Amino acid sequence: MSENKKTEKIAGVKGMNDILPADAPLWELFENTVQSVLKSYGFQQIRTPIVEPTALFARGLGAVTDIVEKEMYSFVDSMNGDQLTLRPESTAGVVRAAIEHNLTYEGPKRLWYAGPMFRHEKPQRGRYRQFHQVGAEALGFTGPDIDAELIMLCQRLWDDLGLQNIRLELNSIGNAEERNRHRTDLIAYFEQHKELLDADAQRRLHSNPLRILDTKNPAMQEMVNAAPKLLDYLGEESLAHFEGVQKILRHNSIPFTINPRLVRGMDYYNRTVFEWVTDQLGAQGTVCGGGRYDPLIEMFGGKPTPACGFAIGVERLLELMKASGEQFAQKLCDVYVVHQGAAAQMQAFVVAERLRDAGLDVVLHCATASAGGSFKAQMKRADASGADFAVIIGEDEVAKGVATVKTMRGENVENNQTVVVFEQVANYVVDQITCGDDCDHPDHHHHH
Ligand code: ATP
Ligand code: MG
Repeated sequence: MSENKKTEKIAGVKGMNDILPADAPLWELFENTVQSVLKSYGFQQIRTPIVEPTALFARGLGAVTDIVEKEMYSFVDSMNGDQLTLRPESTAGVVRAAIEHNLTYEGPKRLWYAGPMFRHEKPQRGRYRQFHQVGAEALGFTGPDIDAELIMLCQRLWDDLGLQNIRLELNSIGNAEERNRHRTDLIAYFEQHKELLDADAQRRLHSNPLRILDTKNPAMQEMVNAAPKLLDYLGEESLAHFEGVQKILRHNSIPFTINPRLVRGMDYYNRTVFEWVTDQLGAQGTVCGGGRYDPLIEMFGGKPTPACGFAIGVERLLELMKASGEQFAQKLCDVYVVHQGAAAQMQAFVVAERLRDAGLDVVLHCATASAGGSFKAQMKRADASGADFAVIIGEDEVAKGVATVKTMRGENVENNQTVVVFEQVANYVVDQITCGDDCDHPDHHHHH
């Protein structure tokens, strides 16, 4: 770029966020916890493409859902005319992959995934155009036991993350036949109250009246509250399944409330539906949604296979973790290596590698464009890095075959400086870290 020509900056896409290094420790803590909780229930990870054929979502989610109606990033691949869509959710892709690769051939499968999803919504707090979900899909299990297990897995995850104030709402939306009987009465009821229906509801009156129950329009709440309840239309089998889920949850002391108006955004759900909700995030308070979707696999051309799953909205959950007030900062390294002069730099590289061999995180000072190479400037960097030790190598040290190790934190930092021969630097630092305390230091686990 020439110096006198001003180049315009290009901003990122609206509603799609950069996840900056300052937030990395929080994301890593979340991802590690998720991974270990899912593993502790025998779930296996699956990674599917971010782009899928548009038809997969059009068929899978139902044509009259918010997602398919107005939120999909769909495009034609100009190279070959393929109709493609950035995935708005992952259940459809996971089910496609399971059918394509015969994953349930040998028996049921517990699967999980994590990654970015794309929905062209109006960006606002807790609602983005690229966001992340972690989800689980249990394929091939018929009973209420797996539904309850998925819910208990979520509860364990909240507990492990130290999150309180997330409550469970539960409902059953029965099967297609039960929903049809309810639907007839529901449409009749809404027609009696047509003057109260907003434009969205009018449009859905005959295409997807169940979704009207899900409205967030305050003017419609009272009318919707008094609408015929799907629960009253459930047959014996659906009721028994629903009872079965509740029994396991009660037995395991998982509190829940039954919300008869709870339906899911996607058309493919049946029987159990649930949401984990918090009051601490404003309007976007649902951090996880899930339920059973027995009809989907057959709809996609697979052998009829029952299925149940959930998806967690990662950004919303992380906001909740931040709201808990806990600090998730992390130091850059254990040791910062400072040096002056060409021979010292060569030694510094070697010492840094030996320290890493010993399991330590090490930042070696490297050249920058600004005049920041003085000892003083380097020590400032060392301090800012949060390192516990600085290893200092100058011309004097090189001549004597030693390095100066300076303690950066704790008591006695003022004159806590020791001269150590090169070969012993790594041993010395490790000793300092492991015997100085009883090693309850969260960052020292890798020294054992
Ligand atoms: P909502 O009613 O908030 O639009 P939804 O029913 O569309 O949610 P799901 O498709 O069930 O949501 O997705 C599961 C979870 O993913 C949601 O509960 C939420 O936490 C999160 N989520 C959904 N859409 C977004 C978005 N645009 N930005 C951030 N998180 C989202
Ligand atoms: Mg939505």
